[in-house]
Amino acid sequence: MKTFHRAGAFVASLLFLVIAIQPSAQGSKGIISQRKVYEATKVKAYNEIRGAANEGSSANFTINYDISDAFPKDLRKLYVSQVEYSSKLFGTFFPKNEVMNIYLYTEKEEKKIKADPILGRYFDDLGRWFSEWKKGQGLEHNLGLAAWYMQSDKGWQGHAGLVVNSKATVNSLRKYSVQVMPHEYFHVVQDYYLNLGREFSWPSSDLYDKYSPPTFREGSANTISFALATKSKNSYLDLYRNFIGEKLNQRDIKIFSELKSESEVVKALTLMENRKNRQDVQEASYAVGQLLYEWVIAKYGFESYRKIVENQITVDSFEANIKKSLGISTQELYKKAAPHIVAAFKLGY
Ligand SMILES: [Zn+2]
Repeated sequence: MKTFHRAGAFVASLLFLVIAIQPSAQGSKGIISQRKVYEATKVKAYNEIRGAANEGSSANFTINYDISDAFPKDLRKLYVSQVEYSSKLFGTFFPKNEVMNIYLYTEKEEKKIKADPILGRYFDDLGRWFSEWKKGQGLEHNLGLAAWYMQSDKGWQGHAGLVVNSKATVNSLRKYSVQVMPHEYFHVVQDYYLNLGREFSWPSSDLYDKYSPPTFREGSANTISFALATKSKNSYLDLYRNFIGEKLNQRDIKIFSELKSESEVVKALTLMENRKNRQDVQEASYAVGQLLYEWVIAKYGFESYRKIVENQITVDSFEANIKKSLGISTQELYKKAAPHIVAAFKLGY
């Protein structure tokens, strides 16, 4: 009896072990295959973007650099090389010769920026950072200075650039900063198809978001800049790991904790169609939007993504643009891309 009891207990505990282990063993297998699919999608998008850049040309650009004497030398070298490489891809979006003004400034140009009719338009945002820097704070950030294709007394031209503290170096800036130059520069491409030939002005951010929702404007600019700023697929994945890791810890942005299931993601992407829908939309649109368009580029190819950029004002809403460019509704797009976004926030990159 005793033996039987012991044996029975042994079998029972064995059974318990099998039951306890099995689901988690399946779970880890599931995670491994989820990781495989997820990473393959990322690498596909990376190769699509880099491939289009490698085959591209900047022959139709006249690039005018305006660089501060105080601009750190190692960062100058990095950003100029990023502009040269990005121009190969961006050049393929412009049918004729264009002037691109590239500004690399420091805090020493504060007054110059404020007085400049083009660069001073959004000075208030920058001014805040200049005061931080004077206190020795926030020095790890580089700041977007210009990101437009616009009309001025110079005519229609591209304007892109950034500000760094004159004491900054490649190593003193935070990791995310490496893609800010191509990000700002890509807005020039988006703007070309949003601003040139548009016969109405933007009376409100509602109308702007109706044509170019923040997940597309900011998110897809990040999709492109992350690929252009990293020279290998491993450094591309690393940059994502750093950025999504940061987002997972950002408790003040509610959306990042609302991406656990596919239906939650569809809800979040719908919410993010307009910045006014909730206070955390603008901030969350970078990370969530960049994953959405990473998936689009992997699934449909870079040329399909190009269509979305080019079609921005050829139809009367972003919804109609997605229908025209990809042949599906935005809700279908969100549903299809949702597993990729769920995986990103589950796997942390
Ligand atoms: Zn931006």
